[in-house]
Amino acid sequence: MKVVLDKEKCTLCFSCVAICPEVFEGKEDGTVDVKEEYKGVEITDENLKEKIREAAEACPAMAITIEE
Ligand code: SF4
Repeated sequence: MKVVLDKEKCTLCFSCVAICPEVFEGKEDGTVDVKEEYKGVEITDENLKEKIREAAEACPAMAITIEE
């Protein structure tokens, strides 16, 4: 799985960061994004994938896209 966060859509609610801080983080510029080490990277860890799915479902702006 790969995960993409659309910063244009993001409303900065921080739900994804609360649910899956391993992958999502608040940046110094005040935005939220996927951590650099996970950008464009195939994520295979099942626990992490589950948390990412949870975060995507919880996102009120539907800003998180998962590519399976
Ligand atoms: S859950 Fe969605 S709207 Fe909230 S910070 Fe994450 S990407 Fe942005």
